[in-house]
Amino acid sequence: MVYAPVELLAKTGHDARLREERSLRQLLLKYEAILENASIGIAFTRDQRFEQVNPRFEQMLGWPRAALVGQPGHVIWRSRQEHAAIGAFVGPLLARGQSADFEHEIARRDGGSFLARIRAKSADPTHPTRGGTIWIVEDVTEERRAVEALRRAHDELEIRLRETTEALAEASARLRDEIAERESAERRIRHLAHHDVLTGLPNRRLLHKRLEQAVVSARAGGRSAAVILIDLDRFKTINDSLGHAVGDALLRAVALRLTDALGAADTVARIGGDEFVVLPGDAADADEATAMSARLLERLSQPYEITGYSLRVTPSIGISVCPRDGEDAETLLSRADAAMYHAKAEGRQCVRFFTEKVERVSTQVLQLENELHAAVSRGELVLHYQPRVELSRRGFVAVEALVRWQHPRRGMIGPAEFIPLAEETGLIHPIGEWVLREACRQQRLWRERGFVPGSIAVNLSAQQFRTPELAGTVRRIIEDAGVDPRTIEIEITESTLMHDGGHALSTLQALAALGVRISIDDFGTGYSSLSYLRRFPVHLLKIDRSFVRDLPASADDATIVRAISGLAASLGLRVVAEGVETEDQLHFLQGIGCDEGQGFLFAPPMPAAELERRFAHRGAVGEACSG
Ligand code: C2E
Ligand code: MG
Ligand code: MG
Repeated sequence: MVYAPVELLAKTGHDARLREERSLRQLLLKYEAILENASIGIAFTRDQRFEQVNPRFEQMLGWPRAALVGQPGHVIWRSRQEHAAIGAFVGPLLARGQSADFEHEIARRDGGSFLARIRAKSADPTHPTRGGTIWIVEDVTEERRAVEALRRAHDELEIRLRETTEALAEASARLRDEIAERESAERRIRHLAHHDVLTGLPNRRLLHKRLEQAVVSARAGGRSAAVILIDLDRFKTINDSLGHAVGDALLRAVALRLTDALGAADTVARIGGDEFVVLPGDAADADEATAMSARLLERLSQPYEITGYSLRVTPSIGISVCPRDGEDAETLLSRADAAMYHAKAEGRQCVRFFTEKVERVSTQVLQLENELHAAVSRGELVLHYQPRVELSRRGFVAVEALVRWQHPRRGMIGPAEFIPLAEETGLIHPIGEWVLREACRQQRLWRERGFVPGSIAVNLSAQQFRTPELAGTVRRIIEDAGVDPRTIEIEITESTLMHDGGHALSTLQALAALGVRISIDDFGTGYSSLSYLRRFPVHLLKIDRSFVRDLPASADDATIVRAISGLAASLGLRVVAEGVETEDQLHFLQGIGCDEGQGFLFAPPMPAAELERRFAHRGAVGEACSG
């Protein structure tokens, strides 16, 4: 071991002290540097008075350091109460050697204040006051403001977000509604495109699709498929005489009966005014279609109670069967249609299948239609004239012009066969004008020759009656022919007249203003009332042949004819009985005071020359007339 000498030891102790002092000074300098440059305020108090503060502290409080040192601690609080309250909070913590952390407003010397985050810590916890307290003070005004601004921005953002979310939700709800609405509109349009508006039944288009499907599956399964076409007999009369509202209600009732009578698998469609088609669901064969048709015929023939009317319409039914009668929808439908026409021709209210005979007839109708176009220009139409007789004297008072078609191959064709065709094709207009012109020409010719057959009555079809220029056309023709309008009578059927009362009235007034006489034809078949007729400027009623046929045996008909004659007389109208064939009928009619008659008993319709030959020698109107 080596021992150091005493001087050496003394020197060593001195050096150590020097070193200690130096390091202490360095430490103090370091603390002072920290204190002077700290960006937070630092103060040191002892016995509740400021002993030392750093520049940041002075700056924050606006106290010069020299003025603040020695000041009591409460000067930095806004009031003595605050100071006391803070002391009560801080004191115990410091006494326990803990630091007191809190935020509080600090008063500046200029009277303002700022929010500070404060930490207080005792330098010597055993003597908190005397030992001195260090105060670290941070101005958090800016921080608070930033936090506040951030919070406001956040709140605003939240509100904005909520608003946007709500708007978005609203927009999407609207969009959903719109989409739903559009979808339902599209569904409606799709439904409308495939359904009949009046009855809600599938329309021709949808029927066509289903029929094509039925044909395909029948063919695939080696089975047959039937098409049942139903047309209502004389629906047009009901529609024309009772009005469209009743007609529509009737069609709806028919549709309802059909759907009631059929199963869910069957299709029933409405393809035209009064035409319905049934496709049996499980592709029926001819026998099943017959059974089904018979059932439908029975159901549909029951009376309908509609707005106070008890109506009867009977159906005529035509059936075609795939593959026998055709293997596509178009052919099957047209053949069912031809079969239905055949049913009508066979007396209506019956069921007919498509057959070769039907085909022959429908081809003939088609051919006839083509030929009718040329008939007017080729001069193939002729008028026959049938006398009308005053019953009391059996005197000849007028003639009715009745059109015939002198067909080059088929001979004489009656109006019942081609007038409906002409009405369907619009040919009725040129034909009707020709008839009137020809009747006027004949009237003038007879008068020039001194033969006076009374007035000539001309039949007008419903379609002619509905043309707005009717009165003008009639006037022109009468003027062109140079005849007295009072020698021309216009016959309009009751059902035509009952259609659209307002329009009928003005048309009749325009006709009557020309000076022509007006008769109501086929009276009794059109559901009109005599009191209704009183509004019309008519001169004559022609009681329909169906009421005369069974006279005098039929008590019902006798009552009807007697009532019509009596009421017509009271309205000042002349009455003509149509289709008088027997002396018994004549006696009955004479007995009830019927004015005139027309019928085979007196004379059939005949060519103009024959009429002249048979009646001219008897002289003027009023000559006795017998068949
Ligand atoms: P309508 O106007 O009621 O004419 C009377 C029909 O009864 C005529 O038939 C006539 O031949 C027939 N007839 C006359 N007396 C008797 C009889 O004693 N017994 C029977 N069983 N029948 C009798 P037609 O000539 O076949 O005319 C049928 C219908 O065709 C006419 O019925 C009329 O509605 C229509 N018609 C005739 N000519 C024309 C015309 O020029 N234009 C229009 N639009 N229709 C016409
Ligand atoms: Mg007539
Ligand atoms: Mg008639």
